[in-house]
Amino acid sequence: MENNFVIILKNDKVSKRLSTSQFIIKENGSLWVENSGTIYPMLSLPEGADKKKYLKMLEKKEFDKVASCTMKVGEIINGGEIVMGDDWANHPVNKKIQAEEDRRREQEKKMVKIFLSTRGWGDYSNVEWRGDITRPNEEILEECKTALENGYDVDFPDQSDEELLKKIVEAREKWEGKEAAKKEAETAEQADIQHKIETGFCFNCESWCHGDCGNYSNDPVIKYKRELESARKEQSYGIHD
Ligand SMILES: [Zn+2]
Repeated sequence: MENNFVIILKNDKVSKRLSTSQFIIKENGSLWVENSGTIYPMLSLPEGADKKKYLKMLEKKEFDKVASCTMKVGEIINGGEIVMGDDWANHPVNKKIQAEEDRRREQEKKMVKIFLSTRGWGDYSNVEWRGDITRPNEEILEECKTALENGYDVDFPDQSDEELLKKIVEAREKWEGKEAAKKEAETAEQADIQHKIETGFCFNCESWCHGDCGNYSNDPVIKYKRELESARKEQSYGIHD
């Protein structure tokens, strides 16, 4: 499917991602790439190698001379493992990266800012607490007090525990309200899709066409695929960049 990139892993981290329209794997596992009609080997040069020398060899197509440092799929060269794009989705390192990213995103959802105090003259930012609002009050309270005590030129450094706890509780309630609203919206969307499936809605033309559009589909997956596709296109056109 996506044979158009390779990943070079070093110490279980993505060290490089190489893209091209076409990678070719020869019988011995070496990786080649087509460029203007010529097929060149991908090189992994030894530490301290003279790059210009190797480039000249490539230009002259003296491929036998560079054979010792061609990249081989799945092989470790200079400490890097080469993974083809096709195998990347299910590669354990990629799965680990994805899991970490999911965890980070979940954690980010819990991050909340609490305004604590303004500061004196000048261009100072407010004193704020920022962190995981689902943590216990006492912990957050301690951190708020520390921020007020250690902050520079704080206008209201002496706030009682009650005052601060009130701010913490209010911030949490506000956050919980938003989370509940999000969940409700998701549930409503699911119910809407379910209703459409049951009443024979066509997800291809997005109406109750009863087959008139010629591509009748009662499968909502089609809608998600289309949305994903257009998001991808926007991305590759750099619209979201
Ligand atoms: Zn239709």
